[in-house]
Amino acid sequence: MPVGTRGTIKAVLATQIEQIGFEVVLGNTYHLMLRPGVETIQSLGGLHGFTGWKRNMLTDSGGYQVMSLGATYSDKGAVFRSIYDGSIHEVTPERATLLQENIGADIAMVLDVCTNLPAGRDEVARAMELTHSWAKRARSAKTRNDQAQFGIVQGGVEQDLRRESAQFISSIGFEGLAIGGLAVGESREAMLESIDSVMKDLPTDVPRYLMGVGDPIGVIEAISRGVDMFDCVAPSRVARHGQAMTFEGKLHLKNLKFARDSRPIEDDCPCVACQRFPRALIRHLVTVGEPSGGTLLTLHNLTFMYRLVERARQSIRSGTLNALAGSIRAAWSN
Ligand SMILES: [Zn+2]
Repeated sequence: MPVGTRGTIKAVLATQIEQIGFEVVLGNTYHLMLRPGVETIQSLGGLHGFTGWKRNMLTDSGGYQVMSLGATYSDKGAVFRSIYDGSIHEVTPERATLLQENIGADIAMVLDVCTNLPAGRDEVARAMELTHSWAKRARSAKTRNDQAQFGIVQGGVEQDLRRESAQFISSIGFEGLAIGGLAVGESREAMLESIDSVMKDLPTDVPRYLMGVGDPIGVIEAISRGVDMFDCVAPSRVARHGQAMTFEGKLHLKNLKFARDSRPIEDDCPCVACQRFPRALIRHLVTVGEPSGGTLLTLHNLTFMYRLVERARQSIRSGTLNALAGSIRAAWSN
């Protein structure tokens, strides 16, 4: 899932995301509830009417954002300050559920308590307990049958807590299950160990979603462990800084060596940047700060991520996933 923080994937249009082939995008409830506000979105026909995105939209609950803002937590919910005007807001599991129903998400995430790592075991355990009681409250607050609701597993990198959380959240009956609280400061090894810990306890008849991991190695390692869904802002964020993602690794297009490079970013890529424009032009655009440079690179990077997952899917069918994972590790390990 490409991430549309403020009602759009930065630098590109909903129609272009559709053309690449994506079926789901992620919208940030936290940002949308502050600006333009839930009532405004509702009055325009919900997220789909407002953003022009016709396919599925998953919305996060704001749990990760409020953690990043240093929210204070109680049994009731989380209190945080708006990044826009400093105003104080409270979000509870019930309110997060209602907000996502009101704005018309197709997939809603429960409100969870995410912990930045490293963190002490007591803090991780407390966050997990709160996440569990909030998950049950969010499930009880659900009223729309046309919307899927995903639960979130926490537990930091405490592997016994991860397993306990996977079993608890799986028992509630959500339409999908997410692994949260990773890619927040732990090592790659600790992240993969945590995925291993939970996967056998997460049912295989619902989607399993690894939150906030979208780098090529992270994605392919997680797919190898049975994960079905991902989101990450990185492919579009690095694009705006001049970095192209390819099956051979990354290209820093601001580098002088691309100044007269007539080749496309990637030979076999179907994106508009590769079909029409030489590396030299894209380098020029990002170097002089033309917004179209970021647009072309965002389209390319999102097409790369889409193709990576498509290749993973094919390689699962043909029994060659290990070989694909090996080539991605080799291309992206430095
Ligand atoms: Zn391309």
